[in-house]
Amino acid sequence: MVKDNVHSIHCGHGRPPDSPQRVRHSSSLDGPHSVEFQPMKKFDRRTFIRGGCALIGTSFIESDLVAQAGHYQEIPLGERPRQSPSVGLLNPSDLVPLSFIIDDSTCLVNMGHFCMPQFERAFPGRPDYSKPWWDWPREIPDDFVREFADWSEANGVQGKYSIVPNPACVGWLDRGLPGWSHQALQESLKLVRGRLTRNWDIHPEMITHTRVIDLKTGRPYDEVNLHTMENSHPGHVMSVDYMASYISYALQILKNVDLPCEGFTTPGGFGNRVKAELSLGGFQALRAVFSTRIPHYFKYLELDTESSTQPRVEHASGLEGPDPGCIVNVIGGHRRLVRRLGWRLSRTSGRIRQSFRLSRWNKR
Ligand SMILES: [Zn+2]
Repeated sequence: MVKDNVHSIHCGHGRPPDSPQRVRHSSSLDGPHSVEFQPMKKFDRRTFIRGGCALIGTSFIESDLVAQAGHYQEIPLGERPRQSPSVGLLNPSDLVPLSFIIDDSTCLVNMGHFCMPQFERAFPGRPDYSKPWWDWPREIPDDFVREFADWSEANGVQGKYSIVPNPACVGWLDRGLPGWSHQALQESLKLVRGRLTRNWDIHPEMITHTRVIDLKTGRPYDEVNLHTMENSHPGHVMSVDYMASYISYALQILKNVDLPCEGFTTPGGFGNRVKAELSLGGFQALRAVFSTRIPHYFKYLELDTESSTQPRVEHASGLEGPDPGCIVNVIGGHRRLVRRLGWRLSRTSGRIRQSFRLSRWNKR
Protein backbone atom coordinates (compact mmCIF):
# COMPACT_ATOMS: atom_id res chain seq x y z
CA MET A 1 0.00 0.00 0.00
CA VAL A 2 1.60 3.22 -1.07
CA LYS A 3 -0.63 5.52 0.90
CA ASP A 4 -0.47 5.99 4.60
CA ASN A 5 -3.28 7.76 6.30
CA VAL A 6 -4.58 8.94 3.00
CA HIS A 7 -7.81 10.60 2.21
CA SER A 8 -9.29 9.71 -1.02
CA ILE A 9 -10.64 11.41 -4.05
CA HIS A 10 -12.52 9.07 -6.30
CA CYS A 11 -13.15 9.65 -9.91
CA GLY A 12 -14.01 7.57 -12.87
CA HIS A 13 -13.49 7.95 -16.55
CA GLY A 14 -15.69 6.28 -19.03
CA ARG A 15 -14.55 7.58 -22.33
CA PRO A 16 -11.43 8.90 -23.94
CA PRO A 17 -10.55 12.52 -24.45
CA ASP A 18 -11.50 14.31 -27.62
CA SER A 19 -14.30 11.97 -28.36
CA PRO A 20 -17.26 13.85 -29.76
CA GLN A 21 -19.65 11.54 -27.96
CA ARG A 22 -17.96 12.16 -24.69
CA VAL A 23 -19.30 15.64 -24.25
CA ARG A 24 -22.70 14.88 -25.62
CA HIS A 25 -23.23 11.97 -23.27
CA SER A 26 -22.03 13.61 -20.22
CA SER A 27 -21.83 10.75 -17.80
CA SER A 28 -20.61 7.21 -17.97
CA LEU A 29 -21.93 4.41 -15.85
CA ASP A 30 -19.44 5.48 -13.29
CA GLY A 31 -20.49 9.08 -13.60
CA PRO A 32 -17.20 10.66 -14.57
CA HIS A 33 -16.69 13.64 -12.41
CA SER A 34 -13.82 15.96 -12.21
CA VAL A 35 -12.69 18.48 -9.71
CA GLU A 36 -12.05 22.07 -10.47
CA PHE A 37 -10.05 23.61 -7.73
CA GLN A 38 -11.34 27.04 -7.01
CA PRO A 39 -9.68 29.39 -4.58
CA MET A 40 -10.70 28.20 -1.17
CA LYS A 41 -13.17 30.57 0.36
CA LYS A 42 -12.60 29.48 3.87
CA PHE A 43 -10.04 26.84 4.58
CA ASP A 44 -10.92 25.16 7.80
CA ARG A 45 -7.86 23.09 8.38
CA ARG A 46 -9.27 21.24 11.34
CA THR A 47 -12.30 20.21 9.39
CA PHE A 48 -10.05 19.16 6.57
CA ILE A 49 -7.92 16.98 8.77
CA ARG A 50 -10.85 15.43 10.58
CA GLY A 51 -12.96 14.96 7.53
CA GLY A 52 -10.20 14.20 5.12
CA CYS A 53 -10.63 14.87 1.50
CA ALA A 54 -13.41 13.81 -0.65
CA LEU A 55 -14.55 11.21 -2.96
CA ILE A 56 -15.89 12.50 -6.16
CA GLY A 57 -17.84 10.45 -8.56
CA THR A 58 -19.94 7.46 -8.09
CA SER A 59 -19.83 3.85 -8.91
CA PHE A 60 -22.20 2.02 -11.20
CA ILE A 61 -24.84 2.23 -8.55
CA GLU A 62 -24.25 5.32 -6.57
CA SER A 63 -27.09 4.61 -4.19
CA ASP A 64 -25.38 1.39 -3.15
CA LEU A 65 -22.27 3.25 -2.19
CA VAL A 66 -24.15 6.00 -0.50
CA ALA A 67 -26.24 3.58 1.50
CA GLN A 68 -23.13 1.96 2.85
CA ALA A 69 -21.59 5.05 4.29
CA GLY A 70 -20.91 4.66 7.95
CA HIS A 71 -22.24 1.12 8.04
CA TYR A 72 -18.88 -0.50 8.27
CA GLN A 73 -18.89 -0.29 12.06
CA GLU A 74 -20.25 -3.82 12.20
CA ILE A 75 -16.97 -5.17 10.83
CA PRO A 76 -14.84 -6.50 13.70
CA LEU A 77 -11.69 -4.53 14.37
CA GLY A 78 -9.99 -7.49 15.99
CA GLU A 79 -7.18 -7.10 18.48
CA ARG A 80 -5.68 -3.80 19.43
CA PRO A 81 -2.22 -3.34 20.89
CA ARG A 82 -1.86 -1.55 24.21
CA GLN A 83 -1.09 2.06 23.52
CA SER A 84 -0.09 4.94 25.71
CA PRO A 85 -2.68 7.71 25.58
CA SER A 86 0.19 10.17 25.35
CA VAL A 87 1.18 8.88 21.92
CA GLY A 88 -0.55 10.27 18.86
CA LEU A 89 -0.03 10.12 15.13
CA LEU A 90 0.74 13.15 13.03
CA ASN A 91 0.62 13.41 9.28
CA PRO A 92 3.96 13.81 7.51
CA SER A 93 5.04 17.46 7.57
CA ASP A 94 1.69 18.18 9.20
CA LEU A 95 0.04 18.03 5.80
CA VAL A 96 -2.97 16.03 4.77
CA PRO A 97 -2.14 13.50 2.06
CA LEU A 98 -4.70 13.06 -0.67
CA SER A 99 -5.23 10.17 -2.97
CA PHE A 100 -7.26 9.57 -6.07
CA ILE A 101 -9.42 6.50 -6.40
CA ILE A 102 -9.97 5.61 -10.03
CA ASP A 103 -12.76 3.12 -10.55
CA ASP A 104 -14.03 1.21 -13.58
CA SER A 105 -10.77 1.33 -15.46
CA THR A 106 -9.18 -1.64 -17.18
CA CYS A 107 -7.15 -2.27 -20.33
CA LEU A 108 -8.64 -0.91 -23.55
CA VAL A 109 -12.28 -1.80 -22.85
CA ASN A 110 -14.52 1.20 -22.24
CA MET A 111 -16.54 -0.22 -19.38
CA GLY A 112 -19.32 2.31 -19.93
CA HIS A 113 -20.01 1.06 -23.44
CA PHE A 114 -20.03 -2.62 -22.56
CA CYS A 115 -21.61 -2.52 -19.11
CA MET A 116 -24.61 -0.35 -19.86
CA PRO A 117 -26.69 -2.90 -21.80
CA GLN A 118 -26.00 -5.52 -19.13
CA PHE A 119 -27.13 -3.18 -16.39
CA GLU A 120 -30.15 -2.18 -18.41
CA ARG A 121 -31.18 -5.84 -18.58
CA ALA A 122 -30.59 -6.53 -14.91
CA PHE A 123 -32.17 -3.32 -13.68
CA PRO A 124 -34.97 -2.67 -16.19
CA GLY A 125 -36.57 0.72 -16.16
CA ARG A 126 -33.78 2.60 -14.47
CA PRO A 127 -33.21 5.78 -16.42
CA ASP A 128 -29.53 5.89 -15.49
CA TYR A 129 -29.05 2.63 -17.39
CA SER A 130 -31.10 3.62 -20.41
CA LYS A 131 -28.45 5.56 -22.21
CA PRO A 132 -27.22 5.44 -25.81
CA TRP A 133 -24.23 3.25 -25.06
CA TRP A 134 -24.06 2.16 -28.70
CA ASP A 135 -22.85 5.64 -29.61
CA TRP A 136 -20.09 5.58 -27.04
CA PRO A 137 -16.55 4.61 -27.96
CA ARG A 138 -15.75 0.97 -27.25
CA GLU A 139 -12.16 1.69 -26.32
CA ILE A 140 -10.22 3.75 -23.82
CA PRO A 141 -7.07 4.34 -25.86
CA ASP A 142 -3.70 3.69 -24.34
CA ASP A 143 -2.65 7.19 -25.39
CA PHE A 144 -5.18 8.52 -22.93
CA VAL A 145 -3.85 6.30 -20.17
CA ARG A 146 -0.30 7.37 -21.06
CA GLU A 147 -1.29 11.02 -20.79
CA PHE A 148 -2.81 10.31 -17.41
CA ALA A 149 0.36 8.53 -16.28
CA ASP A 150 2.47 11.48 -17.46
CA TRP A 151 0.32 13.88 -15.51
CA SER A 152 0.27 11.87 -12.32
CA GLU A 153 4.04 11.39 -12.41
CA ALA A 154 4.67 15.07 -13.14
CA ASN A 155 2.47 16.12 -10.24
CA GLY A 156 3.20 13.41 -7.73
CA VAL A 157 -0.40 12.26 -7.68
CA GLN A 158 -0.96 8.75 -6.39
CA GLY A 159 -3.86 6.51 -5.65
CA LYS A 160 -5.72 3.41 -6.68
CA TYR A 161 -6.40 2.37 -10.26
CA SER A 162 -8.81 -0.44 -11.05
CA ILE A 163 -8.02 -3.10 -13.61
CA VAL A 164 -11.17 -5.18 -14.09
CA PRO A 165 -9.80 -8.63 -15.04
CA ASN A 166 -12.74 -9.87 -17.14
CA PRO A 167 -14.13 -6.46 -18.06
CA ALA A 168 -17.89 -6.65 -18.60
CA CYS A 169 -17.37 -10.27 -19.72
CA VAL A 170 -15.70 -8.99 -22.91
CA GLY A 171 -12.57 -11.11 -22.48
CA TRP A 172 -9.91 -12.19 -20.03
CA LEU A 173 -6.84 -10.06 -19.58
CA ASP A 174 -4.73 -13.20 -19.16
CA ARG A 175 -6.24 -14.96 -22.18
CA GLY A 176 -7.31 -12.37 -24.71
CA LEU A 177 -9.76 -9.62 -25.46
CA PRO A 178 -12.02 -10.37 -28.43
CA GLY A 179 -12.06 -7.20 -30.53
CA TRP A 180 -8.44 -6.35 -29.86
CA SER A 181 -5.28 -7.99 -31.11
CA HIS A 182 -3.06 -9.99 -28.83
CA GLN A 183 -0.36 -7.38 -29.36
CA ALA A 184 -2.65 -4.50 -28.43
CA LEU A 185 -3.59 -6.21 -25.17
CA GLN A 186 0.03 -6.98 -24.35
CA GLU A 187 1.03 -3.36 -25.00
CA SER A 188 -1.79 -2.12 -22.83
CA LEU A 189 -0.80 -4.42 -19.98
CA LYS A 190 2.80 -3.31 -20.39
CA LEU A 191 1.71 0.31 -20.05
CA VAL A 192 -0.07 -0.45 -16.78
CA ARG A 193 2.85 -2.52 -15.50
CA GLY A 194 5.54 -0.10 -16.56
CA ARG A 195 3.96 3.27 -15.95
CA LEU A 196 0.86 3.19 -13.78
CA THR A 197 2.28 0.98 -11.07
CA ARG A 198 4.80 3.71 -10.26
CA ASN A 199 2.13 5.90 -8.73
CA TRP A 200 -0.94 3.71 -8.52
CA ASP A 201 -2.00 0.68 -6.56
CA ILE A 202 -3.65 -1.76 -8.94
CA HIS A 203 -6.91 -3.30 -7.73
CA PRO A 204 -9.25 -5.77 -9.36
CA GLU A 205 -12.78 -4.40 -9.17
CA MET A 206 -14.04 -7.93 -8.76
CA ILE A 207 -14.06 -10.17 -11.83
CA THR A 208 -16.37 -8.56 -14.39
CA HIS A 209 -18.02 -5.55 -12.73
CA THR A 210 -21.19 -6.88 -14.36
CA ARG A 211 -22.28 -10.54 -14.25
CA VAL A 212 -21.34 -12.77 -11.34
CA ILE A 213 -19.07 -15.61 -12.41
CA ASP A 214 -19.83 -19.14 -11.28
CA LEU A 215 -16.44 -20.12 -9.91
CA LYS A 216 -17.05 -23.77 -10.74
CA THR A 217 -17.57 -23.17 -14.44
CA GLY A 218 -15.96 -19.81 -15.08
CA ARG A 219 -19.17 -18.67 -16.81
CA PRO A 220 -21.71 -16.06 -15.78
CA TYR A 221 -24.82 -17.48 -14.11
CA ASP A 222 -27.67 -18.06 -16.52
CA GLU A 223 -30.14 -16.10 -14.47
CA VAL A 224 -29.85 -12.33 -14.76
CA ASN A 225 -31.12 -10.35 -11.82
CA LEU A 226 -30.01 -8.04 -9.09
CA HIS A 227 -28.04 -10.69 -7.26
CA THR A 228 -26.26 -12.18 -10.23
CA MET A 229 -24.71 -8.79 -10.91
CA GLU A 230 -21.54 -8.13 -8.98
CA ASN A 231 -22.78 -4.72 -7.87
CA SER A 232 -25.30 -6.32 -5.55
CA HIS A 233 -23.86 -9.77 -4.99
CA PRO A 234 -24.29 -11.87 -2.92
CA GLY A 235 -28.02 -11.71 -2.34
CA HIS A 236 -27.77 -13.52 0.97
CA VAL A 237 -25.19 -14.31 3.59
CA MET A 238 -22.21 -16.22 2.22
CA SER A 239 -19.21 -17.63 4.01
CA VAL A 240 -15.79 -16.07 4.42
CA ASP A 241 -14.52 -18.96 2.28
CA TYR A 242 -16.80 -18.00 -0.60
CA MET A 243 -15.85 -14.33 -0.44
CA ALA A 244 -12.17 -15.24 -0.28
CA SER A 245 -12.57 -17.55 -3.29
CA TYR A 246 -14.37 -14.94 -5.36
CA ILE A 247 -11.82 -12.24 -4.63
CA SER A 248 -8.95 -14.68 -5.18
CA TYR A 249 -10.32 -15.54 -8.61
CA ALA A 250 -10.11 -11.89 -9.62
CA LEU A 251 -6.67 -11.41 -8.08
CA GLN A 252 -5.24 -14.50 -9.76
CA ILE A 253 -6.02 -13.17 -13.23
CA LEU A 254 -4.06 -10.01 -12.50
CA LYS A 255 -1.25 -12.06 -11.05
CA ASN A 256 -1.18 -14.10 -14.26
CA VAL A 257 -0.36 -10.92 -16.18
CA ASP A 258 2.24 -9.75 -13.64
CA LEU A 259 0.20 -6.94 -12.17
CA PRO A 260 0.95 -6.59 -8.47
CA CYS A 261 -1.98 -6.10 -6.09
CA GLU A 262 -2.12 -5.30 -2.43
CA GLY A 263 -5.81 -4.54 -2.37
CA PHE A 264 -9.15 -4.82 -4.13
CA THR A 265 -12.15 -2.62 -4.87
CA THR A 266 -15.78 -3.68 -4.73
CA PRO A 267 -18.10 -2.80 -7.59
CA GLY A 268 -20.92 -0.76 -6.07
CA GLY A 269 -22.69 -2.72 -3.40
CA PHE A 270 -20.72 -5.96 -3.73
CA GLY A 271 -20.61 -7.56 -0.29
CA ASN A 272 -23.18 -5.26 1.31
CA ARG A 273 -24.83 -8.18 3.06
CA VAL A 274 -21.57 -9.75 4.18
CA LYS A 275 -19.41 -6.85 5.25
CA ALA A 276 -17.46 -8.75 7.88
CA GLU A 277 -17.00 -11.79 5.62
CA LEU A 278 -15.92 -9.56 2.76
CA SER A 279 -13.27 -7.90 4.86
CA LEU A 280 -11.87 -11.14 6.28
CA GLY A 281 -12.23 -12.95 2.95
CA GLY A 282 -10.32 -10.14 1.26
CA PHE A 283 -7.53 -10.48 3.79
CA GLN A 284 -7.33 -14.22 3.15
CA ALA A 285 -7.42 -13.79 -0.63
CA LEU A 286 -4.61 -11.24 -0.75
CA ARG A 287 -2.50 -13.27 1.63
CA ALA A 288 -3.08 -16.40 -0.47
CA VAL A 289 -2.55 -14.96 -3.96
CA PHE A 290 -0.03 -12.17 -3.44
CA SER A 291 1.32 -12.88 0.05
CA THR A 292 0.40 -9.30 0.91
CA ARG A 293 1.53 -8.42 4.40
CA ILE A 294 -1.07 -5.72 5.07
CA PRO A 295 -3.85 -5.90 2.48
CA HIS A 296 -6.34 -3.09 1.99
CA TYR A 297 -9.62 -2.53 0.18
CA PHE A 298 -11.86 0.24 -1.03
CA LYS A 299 -15.62 0.02 -0.67
CA TYR A 300 -17.08 2.72 1.56
CA LEU A 301 -17.72 6.40 1.29
CA GLU A 302 -18.13 8.61 4.29
CA LEU A 303 -20.92 11.05 3.59
CA ASP A 304 -20.82 12.85 6.88
CA THR A 305 -18.47 15.76 6.42
CA GLU A 306 -17.81 15.80 10.17
CA SER A 307 -16.60 12.21 10.20
CA SER A 308 -13.09 11.02 9.68
CA THR A 309 -12.02 9.08 6.62
CA GLN A 310 -9.07 7.68 8.49
CA PRO A 311 -8.37 4.15 7.25
CA ARG A 312 -9.81 1.45 9.52
CA VAL A 313 -7.69 -1.52 10.57
CA GLU A 314 -9.96 -4.59 10.67
CA HIS A 315 -9.68 -8.20 11.77
CA ALA A 316 -6.36 -7.58 13.47
CA SER A 317 -5.08 -10.83 14.91
CA GLY A 318 -1.98 -12.54 16.21
CA LEU A 319 -0.41 -9.31 17.41
CA GLU A 320 1.72 -11.09 19.97
CA GLY A 321 2.71 -13.91 17.63
CA PRO A 322 5.08 -14.36 14.69
CA ASP A 323 2.46 -13.68 12.00
CA PRO A 324 0.20 -10.77 12.88
CA GLY A 325 -2.50 -9.95 10.36
CA CYS A 326 -5.09 -7.33 9.50
CA ILE A 327 -6.76 -5.68 6.55
CA VAL A 328 -7.16 -1.93 6.09
CA ASN A 329 -10.49 -0.49 5.03
CA VAL A 330 -9.61 2.66 3.06
CA ILE A 331 -12.61 4.97 3.35
CA GLY A 332 -13.29 7.58 0.73
CA GLY A 333 -14.81 10.95 1.31
CA HIS A 334 -17.69 12.32 -0.68
CA ARG A 335 -18.16 15.21 -3.01
CA ARG A 336 -20.19 17.02 -0.38
CA LEU A 337 -16.94 17.41 1.48
CA VAL A 338 -15.25 18.64 -1.65
CA ARG A 339 -17.86 21.35 -1.88
CA ARG A 340 -17.47 22.18 1.76
CA LEU A 341 -13.80 22.72 1.18
CA GLY A 342 -14.65 25.23 -1.48
CA TRP A 343 -13.93 23.05 -4.48
CA ARG A 344 -16.36 22.80 -7.31
CA LEU A 345 -17.26 19.57 -9.04
CA SER A 346 -17.99 19.39 -12.67
CA ARG A 347 -20.03 16.69 -14.31
CA THR A 348 -20.08 18.45 -17.61
CA SER A 349 -17.41 16.71 -19.56
CA GLY A 350 -15.77 13.92 -17.66
CA ARG A 351 -12.49 15.17 -19.01
CA ILE A 352 -9.65 14.07 -16.92
CA ARG A 353 -7.99 17.19 -18.21
CA GLN A 354 -10.11 19.14 -15.79
CA SER A 355 -8.93 17.18 -12.84
CA PHE A 356 -5.43 18.07 -13.96
CA ARG A 357 -6.18 21.33 -12.30
CA LEU A 358 -5.34 19.57 -9.11
CA SER A 359 -1.73 20.25 -9.99
CA ARG A 360 -2.23 23.97 -9.61
CA TRP A 361 -3.60 23.48 -6.16
CA ASN A 362 -0.83 21.12 -5.19
CA LYS A 363 1.78 23.73 -6.00
CA ARG A 364 0.35 26.26 -3.63
ZN1 LIG B 1 -16.97 0.61 -10.29
